[in-house]
Amino acid sequence: MKCPFCTELDNKVIDSRLSKEGTVIRRRRECIICRRRFTTYEHIEEIPIMIVKKDGRREEFSREKVRAGILRAVEKLDISINAVDAFLDDLERDLRETGEKEIPSSNIGERVMIKLHELNDIAYVRFASVYREFKDVNDFVSELRSLLSSNA
Ligand SMILES: [Zn+2]
Repeated sequence: MKCPFCTELDNKVIDSRLSKEGTVIRRRRECIICRRRFTTYEHIEEIPIMIVKKDGRREEFSREKVRAGILRAVEKLDISINAVDAFLDDLERDLRETGEKEIPSSNIGERVMIKLHELNDIAYVRFASVYREFKDVNDFVSELRSLLSSNA
C-alpha cells in the first residue's frame, strides 16, 4: 500500500478495526520512511442475495425489510436492539453460507421462524401468525399447542 505522502510502499499497521456490521476493516498505517500516518479501508466484496418470491419475481434481499418484521414481532418484549441486530447478522451469514445466489422467500421465512423460536416464543408466534397467514383460529391454536409441547 503506497504512502500517500512519499509513495513509499512499505508501512506498518498500527491499528485495525472491524466495523459494527463486520463488513469493513479500517486500518491505520504508518509509513516506515516519512512516518506519516494514513488510513485504508478493506471492504468485503458483497454479492447481493436474490430472493425468489412466490410468483417467481426476484428481489434483492433487504436486511431492512426483515429487520422491520422482526422489530414488529419483538415489540414490547424484553429484547434489545443489539439482540435484533445479532439475529440479522446470523441470518445474513447463514444465507451467504448456503452459497446460493437465489433463495426462495419461503426458505427465508422458515429460517426466521426457527431463529425466532430460539430467541423468544411470543415473538415467534407473532411472526408466525403473520407469515403463515393462518386460515382460521384452529390453525393458530394447533401451532400454539405444538409450540407449547415442544417446550415441555
Ligand atoms: Zn511516507
